[in-house]
Amino acid sequence: MSKSAIANKVSQLYKKILINNCSEYEQQDLQKSAIVFSPHFDDETLGCGGIIFKKKQAGADVKIVFMTDGSKSHKHLISEDELKIIRQNEGVACAQVLGLKQDDVLCLKLEETKLKHLEATAIAQVKQILDQQQPEEIFLPYSREPLLWSEDHLATTRIIKSALQSYTKDAIVYEYPIWFWFHWPWVELFARKEPLRSVILKNTLDYGFGLRLLQDFQCSVYIGDILDNKRAALEQHKSQMTRLLPKPNWSTLGDVSNGDFLNCFFQEHEIFRRYHHQAEGDIEKHY
Ligand SMILES: [Zn+2]
Repeated sequence: MSKSAIANKVSQLYKKILINNCSEYEQQDLQKSAIVFSPHFDDETLGCGGIIFKKKQAGADVKIVFMTDGSKSHKHLISEDELKIIRQNEGVACAQVLGLKQDDVLCLKLEETKLKHLEATAIAQVKQILDQQQPEEIFLPYSREPLLWSEDHLATTRIIKSALQSYTKDAIVYEYPIWFWFHWPWVELFARKEPLRSVILKNTLDYGFGLRLLQDFQCSVYIGDILDNKRAALEQHKSQMTRLLPKPNWSTLGDVSNGDFLNCFFQEHEIFRRYHHQAEGDIEKHY
């Protein structure tokens, strides 16, 4: 069963209000240097693939930092060591489609699903990267991602925010949503199976039936003209997009809520929660 007609109407309405409320990402900012911090191999493209592509077209210096090692998503079907290599190669291939060079991709290789236990190590690594690269923009996961399934995302956000406290340059921070979308009206409320049904219901209540969208996201970038490029980049994550082994329990992103979840990332706009980081530490000054 896919989304109901009511859910479609409500999501269309939200999109309309949201885009009116959002300020459009400034064209001249496309040239600003940026680092995109991605908890897993795929979040960078799902949340920011469009803006990364546009920034590279504008000649910006963009780096992607993958926080975890990619070992766990299909560990019941393939060895963790094998999967790590596959996913890292997919991350590089995807970045290249977005316009980056291999050297623009950094992999911290911290153990997937365990990031919250490795925060001190990660903070030290991120501080070093920030000092070396001196980015003008920083992209990180939305700080209010749902707790379930997003522990690495929430840990990534905490790690980057801690590292930013000693970053001595002004920057603009963009938080991008991923598992945020996993609630009604974006996906069907009454999924057939538990525990999916409870997770979607809880997220829907926590996000005020979608109203959180209008409260938190104030910046959007139009990507309707480059959706094919974003799709081509995401396709490089073959282990997430296709069944690498012919096993029905090899789950793909397209399986989540019958494709409704994946569709959230191919809307005509990518949206961000945006604020200013000032060298002296105040990182939540919104504008
Ligand atoms: Zn992720």
